[in-house]
Amino acid sequence: MKILVLNCGSSSLKYQLINMENEGVMAKGIVERIGIEGSFLKHESESNGKVKIEEAMKDHKDAIRHVLEALVHKDHGAIASMEEISAVGHRVVHGGEKFSGSVMINQDVIDALEECSELAPLHNPPNLMGIYACQEILPGIPMVGVFDTAFHQTMPEDSYIYALPYEYYESHKIRRYGFHGTSHKYVAMKAAALMGKPIEELKIVTCHLGNGASIAAVDGGKSVDTSMGFTPLEGLAMGTRCGDMDPAITTFLMEKEDMDYKELNNMMNKKSGVLGISGVSSDFRDIEEAAEKGNKRAQLALDVYHKRVKKYIGAYAAEMGGLDAVVFTAGLGENSPESRATICKGLGFLGINIDPDKNNVRGKETVVTSDDSTTKVILVPTNEELAIARETLSLV
Ligand code: ADP
Repeated sequence: MKILVLNCGSSSLKYQLINMENEGVMAKGIVERIGIEGSFLKHESESNGKVKIEEAMKDHKDAIRHVLEALVHKDHGAIASMEEISAVGHRVVHGGEKFSGSVMINQDVIDALEECSELAPLHNPPNLMGIYACQEILPGIPMVGVFDTAFHQTMPEDSYIYALPYEYYESHKIRRYGFHGTSHKYVAMKAAALMGKPIEELKIVTCHLGNGASIAAVDGGKSVDTSMGFTPLEGLAMGTRCGDMDPAITTFLMEKEDMDYKELNNMMNKKSGVLGISGVSSDFRDIEEAAEKGNKRAQLALDVYHKRVKKYIGAYAAEMGGLDAVVFTAGLGENSPESRATICKGLGFLGINIDPDKNNVRGKETVVTSDDSTTKVILVPTNEELAIARETLSLV
């Protein structure tokens, strides 16, 4: 069975065609600048190499049509006809409180997602555009929605309720939802398998450290707390997002800098995080390089970032009443031995002792703590597309 995985953003679309017999990626690619001048498709097929197709794509339907053409193309395609695609798995960012697992997409699900769009105005509308486009272009092919929020729906009330008047939860559904759920679940399960123990017996903290970053407390295989909240802005300092801060800073700045809520939102989402502190870049490679050359603010950005990750690991160990493993994943988590070492420094009291030789590794599933560490630190490359394809397979 071949499954097409789609991840639709506002002006981009990423896809993978996965053969579920061996879980191999037959083709993958990205469409960028959808609806903007200069749109293009970068496509790569396992057997026929890479190609860049530059063509105007006015909307997601146009983009998906081009993706399908590329997939069946006689020179750079991966399959003979579209009939070979058995199902489509859609990444959907926000499932609200309605979805605690993946679902087959039908009209009721679409209606519920339209309702959730208010909670994720930047993400859900393009996800829905991808679903509508597939309904038209691939009629009759089963589709599955896999939600970033679903894994965190097991959080207890005292993790997800904010200390605000309760009526805002009732009237506006203001609560912690959490994101990156597909990744947290995938890496926690992988880590348990690597440890050779049933996940039901383990207390794991998963650190998804990419451009966006979040941490989850996974107790017995269930998410019991996570650092992102009502939106993906809460928690860690990120590439450009501020994460946790005193909420009173917002009203203070509105008054002092005469900022309106849009400017404030933009500042907190796009100009803050390690970019805001360092003034160098949102990319950790640039910041690490600048810090090495003596740039103090770049070093400060790294220090703030690392300390906050450490704080969450400690908080979640306390919350779960123990810790068997810490998992690092995503861009920075998989590729920066320095960051892993800095974050875990001084965590010997939690049974964590990083082995510098074992930790000198990138993008490979492996334990990076010494053999006598009672708590393991494990590097697990995330694979959200494969996780979405597996969920899709299990439902169709
Ligand atoms: P996203 O999917 O959220 O865009 P990724 O998981 O691809 O993010 O992570 C991107 C981040 O990972 C970037 O900030 C980048 O700096 C960081 N990263 C990637 N490779 C390295 C590396 N070798 N060393 C340090 N940071 C890295």
